[in-house]
Amino acid sequence: MTWYPPYPLFLVQCEGTRVRDADGHWYEDMIANYGALAHGHNHPALVAAVTGQMTRGTAPGGPVPLQYEHAERLRALNPSLERLRYCNSGTEATMWAVRTARAYTGRDLVVKIDGGYHGTHDWGQVNAFFAPQRTAPARLAGLPEIRPAAGVALSTAGDIVAIPYNDLPAAATVLRGLGEQIAAVVVEPVLGVGGGVPSAPGYLAGLRRLTREAGALLVFDECATLRLGPWQVKHGVIPDLTTHSKIVGGGLPLGVFGGREDVMALFDPSRPHPVHHAGAFGGNSLSLAAGSAALDHFGTDEIAHLDFLGDRLRAGLDAAAASVGVAGRSVGEGGLSYFHFGSTPPRDAADTARLRAGRAELRSLLHLSLLNAGFLTAPHGLLCQHVPTAPESVDALVDAY
Ligand code: PLP
Repeated sequence: MTWYPPYPLFLVQCEGTRVRDADGHWYEDMIANYGALAHGHNHPALVAAVTGQMTRGTAPGGPVPLQYEHAERLRALNPSLERLRYCNSGTEATMWAVRTARAYTGRDLVVKIDGGYHGTHDWGQVNAFFAPQRTAPARLAGLPEIRPAAGVALSTAGDIVAIPYNDLPAAATVLRGLGEQIAAVVVEPVLGVGGGVPSAPGYLAGLRRLTREAGALLVFDECATLRLGPWQVKHGVIPDLTTHSKIVGGGLPLGVFGGREDVMALFDPSRPHPVHHAGAFGGNSLSLAAGSAALDHFGTDEIAHLDFLGDRLRAGLDAAAASVGVAGRSVGEGGLSYFHFGSTPPRDAADTARLRAGRAELRSLLHLSLLNAGFLTAPHGLLCQHVPTAPESVDALVDAY
């Protein structure tokens, strides 16, 4: 992800919204660690929280009140987290959400979005943009074939059904045809790595209805979308389980999974045969302290500012492309955007893959030109701002494009 030709930058210093490479060049940071940061680098409140916590202990190996303090702040953004548990990353959070759903339903099949990215565990590396060495046929005709990434056992494919994003009829076919075998449907409210594609109106509400009918759990992977604010509250679709990571750790590793109290009760250690959840550093004090400080500075004003920056950026990029007669469109929501070459925005990951393949050389040259102009962006077109990013920086990025 972070490698690109002719050579990737090595970043040696970060200050606010800027980063410096090993050759001494400063860049305005328009990646924000692939959306994982919200407050720029070295935010004074986060530095104070982390250095203060260092003196009190990093991971004592027992429950810490910091978990409750962080959870209360997070629940203000996502009230559907009736109960939640901490781990170290988005990868762990989505792995655990699926394990929870399997334990709750006693079923094994997982429905995921074709091109949806959920981390580096085995099922997450199936149909997630990585070149497959082997493929397996889909369980139902007309669905995408199953493509485990290199190194993932082909047998993993047997537990996965992939459906195209924003295609409710395909979801209905799967949930009505295989419903009794399905433990969970896992979906991102905005398809992130798959191209910044917003969910179509009614799509997630449709998945909510279909999963309920099938007795399967609906899991929202909101690892990347918490930077958009309280998505579930705003859109009124409430899943059974949610995963969060990235900005919840204030720049340090932290993952969260949780949701319905009756489902999360599976982990209650006082009941017979609880689901066993362990991890030496899950919910460690340092990440929680940083994360709580970050969430203290992620309220209505900060979210509105990211929305404002994102809207300004997307409108600017679309106008810039039109003004020079280039077929290019920006997509995304809030402070999470992508720029694609092509005249129509992608509706699913297959569209994104086609757009990326079509102008691969131009995309690479654009990325390198932006570096020369002093902007750090992602080679595949992702653009994320920090809360302290100034509107003038966004305007300057649009000019550079
Ligand atoms: N889920 C989503 C939607 C993500 O965007 C990511 C990371 O990009 C992950 C899960 C995995 O998170 P992590 O890199 O912390 O393992």
